[in-house]
Amino acid sequence: MIPLTLSEIANATGGKLIGADITISAISTDSRALAAEQVFLALKGPNFDGHKFVSQVAELGGLAVIVDHQVETRLPQVVVADTRIALGKIGAYVKAQTAPKTVGITGSSGKTTVKEMVAAILSRLGNVLATSGNFNNDIGVPLTLLRLGHEHDFAVIEMGANHIGEIAYTTNLVKPDVAIINNIAAAHLEGFGDLCGVARAKGEIFEGIPEGGVAVYNQDSKWADKWKWRLTDKKVRRFSCKESADEKGDNEIIKAEQAADCYSANVTLDDNGCANFKLHTHIGSTYIELTIPGKHNVCNAVAAAAIAIECGASLDDIKLGLAEMSPVKGRLNLYQLDDNCKLIDDTYNANVESIKAATELLASYPGYRVLILGDMAELGSDARSYHQEVGEHAKTQGIDTLLTLGVLSQSTADAFGDNGQHFSSKEQLLTSLKQQLANEERAISILVKGSRSAHMEHVVNEIINWR
Ligand code: ATP
Ligand code: MG
Repeated sequence: MIPLTLSEIANATGGKLIGADITISAISTDSRALAAEQVFLALKGPNFDGHKFVSQVAELGGLAVIVDHQVETRLPQVVVADTRIALGKIGAYVKAQTAPKTVGITGSSGKTTVKEMVAAILSRLGNVLATSGNFNNDIGVPLTLLRLGHEHDFAVIEMGANHIGEIAYTTNLVKPDVAIINNIAAAHLEGFGDLCGVARAKGEIFEGIPEGGVAVYNQDSKWADKWKWRLTDKKVRRFSCKESADEKGDNEIIKAEQAADCYSANVTLDDNGCANFKLHTHIGSTYIELTIPGKHNVCNAVAAAAIAIECGASLDDIKLGLAEMSPVKGRLNLYQLDDNCKLIDDTYNANVESIKAATELLASYPGYRVLILGDMAELGSDARSYHQEVGEHAKTQGIDTLLTLGVLSQSTADAFGDNGQHFSSKEQLLTSLKQQLANEERAISILVKGSRSAHMEHVVNEIINWR
């Protein structure tokens, strides 16, 4: 973070400084991890109130506090109306002072992946600050902006939402020069009502684009026309996830691509399911070899290319940046357990589309394919039918066995039919898996996935320890 005086912070937040006007260079909201020389900003949540911690800040070596009412402390304090809003305003102020070229990324799935891809490409052009992990909400986004320094040429910011208005809020802090909606799918439906609500909420990202900025969206989305009409005063780039008909002569697909600035052609998957393809863009074409598996990552890479070009990347930057990219933890991480057995850890999170994408990757492997699924969370009143949908999809993809764990995913196993089995404990599931694999002579591929709250990484760890 850049050094700021407390009076600057008071000005940026409309707050009042009480005490000395010192210069600070770090702000923390985490009472468990407050380090010396930091300023503590007291947030209030449904189950906690950071103000309760304020009295300990001086003892821990903190320099000042930011609070929503005057508190007893020997440290200087900035008193603001609302500390969450103040955090946002300080983040926006730091962003404005450092002025990096800024990318804002939203969508239902692939945000973190696209963020990592864009960061890998732009690192070839300059110093990049990217969202760390999944800090993508109304607290995480401002905390990310606070990390900006004058040394950063680019900021690549992931913006998630679980309710309407969250992205409207964060996009106004981020003011992305390039903003993208990667896709729209059934995720966090409880906060949005329905898919239309999801599309509206993600569409908010385009409201924060400053003069001269660029909106990037998926041409294939059924919401594309809605975005198009809202963007008549903005520069727009469209990408398509439909594989080109370069060598197929399919007029329908050719028409779709003609409307898109970036798209892929001639996609093939290597033995690990990593895609090779030809990337077509409005600045030319190049061959791409991805290092992370999954055909859906072609689409993420096309999206990343569309963004990177708007930030000044060349085709070579895109090609080399993507080739150098490291896997993103918990997203389709591939382990070759022995000569005969692959394990794919996709346990970071799950929604209907991402389970289908992962299932299709698993289906592309030869041999015996085992899909292990935990529940998908936050799907609202239609949760059961979404769980059935992924079970039916797995069946049509030719998955050999589906094992499920949780409550809702009983419906997934039932929809899969004969070789679908539901378990009430991880231990039972693993015992059954061992029995099924004991005499299997074909190559085995096991993919494990579920929502964050399902903690399916425990299943992954057990399988790694056991094989
Ligand atoms: P979150 O909302 O949890 O932040 P995210 O949007 O950041 O998720 P990623 O973490 O990049 O998404 O990917 C999560 C999972 O979604 C991946 O493991 C993969 O299975 C799936 N996924 C990623 N990209 C796509 C895509 N373009 N289409 C469908 N599924 C995808
Ligand atoms: Mg993410």
